[in-house]
Amino acid sequence: MPMYEYRCQECGKLYEQLRRMSDADTNLQCPGCGSQKVQRQVSACAIAGSSSGGPSGGGCAPRGGFS
Ligand SMILES: [Zn+2]
Repeated sequence: MPMYEYRCQECGKLYEQLRRMSDADTNLQCPGCGSQKVQRQVSACAIAGSSSGGPSGGGCAPRGGFS
């Protein structure tokens, strides 16, 4: 099960969650404020290990073969 990164559009909180691919965009809810305005971030590097609360934004180009 892949880990996805989400960002709340209400409070700006960035968090990660393990989800099935088929459920990646369903029933999203911010753990901080409870808002459902959450946007999934494209992050293929979460599996490789990212520092907690790491830098917001990219710096982590997805590599071919990740699916
Ligand atoms: Zn929030």
